[in-house]
Amino acid sequence: MLKTKIIKIDEKNINNPEELGKLREAAGIIKNGGLVVFPTETVYGLGADALNRNAVGKIYKAKGRPSDNPLIVHFSNAGDIYKYAEVNETAGKIINKFMPAPLTLVLKKKNGLLNYASPNLDTVAVRVPRNKTARKLIELAGTPIAAPSANLSGKPSPTSAEHIISDLNGRADMIICGESSEIGLESTVISFNPDNPDNGINILRSGFITREMLSEFNISENNLSENNNKNNPPVCPGIKYRHYSPDAPLRILSGENHRIIDFIKRENINNKNKKIGFLCFDELSEYFDKSENIAVISLGPRDNLNEQAKNLFGALNKFNNIGVDIIYSIEPSRKEIGEAVYNRLMKASGGKVCGV
Ligand code: AMP
Ligand code: MG
Repeated sequence: MLKTKIIKIDEKNINNPEELGKLREAAGIIKNGGLVVFPTETVYGLGADALNRNAVGKIYKAKGRPSDNPLIVHFSNAGDIYKYAEVNETAGKIINKFMPAPLTLVLKKKNGLLNYASPNLDTVAVRVPRNKTARKLIELAGTPIAAPSANLSGKPSPTSAEHIISDLNGRADMIICGESSEIGLESTVISFNPDNPDNGINILRSGFITREMLSEFNISENNLSENNNKNNPPVCPGIKYRHYSPDAPLRILSGENHRIIDFIKRENINNKNKKIGFLCFDELSEYFDKSENIAVISLGPRDNLNEQAKNLFGALNKFNNIGVDIIYSIEPSRKEIGEAVYNRLMKASGGKVCGV
């Protein structure tokens, strides 16, 4: 068990001497091979020096992450990516158009320097976060930072400091508590065709940078669920694992609003000894009152997809804190960032959608 130093940072004023001092201390921990939890615009990350084998090993241990699930390496500026990875022409255009961004590129390694983040692969996942605290920390550390989400493996990702403290207190050297994550979902991950990298991209994981935003780059019709087929090696190693799961089983309900409401109310009456969680939109939460003893959490308005993305992991973590026995969820729209919300809920449910 480590003694974890928990500090608060004012993300709006990171260049003030006091805040800079805190980031310098955190950067010192990274340089000395320690683990630091830090805010990014996607979710909080658990970071270590990507060039230090022992430090990267600590990330896997702290999270209980399977050793064949590679890590994303974070840079403070896009120019540094070129030092460690082969940037093909399409990747170059994407970097120029988007970075810094909640977008990760899987590129061929240029030299062995980033081997520890993806030991058995000839590719490495790289990203420049948009969040200024994250970029400043990387700059001060003077080294690329390997960082997965700062949660125990398989659990919902952390979007606020309190989620992390319950998962990682005692497992990291420092936790930097900043603001709630602006986006709330992990980065979009894209890869390139190894034989012809300029011939289109694959979306390995959906996120804030949507299919629509990437449409000019010739997206291959690569279906994630196909890659998940046990007979094929997964294209994105992480997708073979159960992910984002709250403690209770989660089922997605598909049907009209009134049918969903009837279903939940009936389940509640028929299962008096079970605490039911209901993940819904604002328009549905109005139909339930406290006396029913159902834990109702809204993701926001049905048509506000960004708000749904931002609230999703917070809601799943809240169900864990309440201690529900089962979670029923509405089926979100698959438009734009809705695709990413849908993808996380499908993973959390193990693909279980029930028609009502
Ligand atoms: P996380 O760090 O938990 O947000 O997950 C990072 C995601 O990127 C996982 O799904 C990984 O499998 C994926 N990833 C990381 N490195 C690579 C790589 N070299 N090739 C393909 N996917 C990768
Ligand atoms: Mg993760």
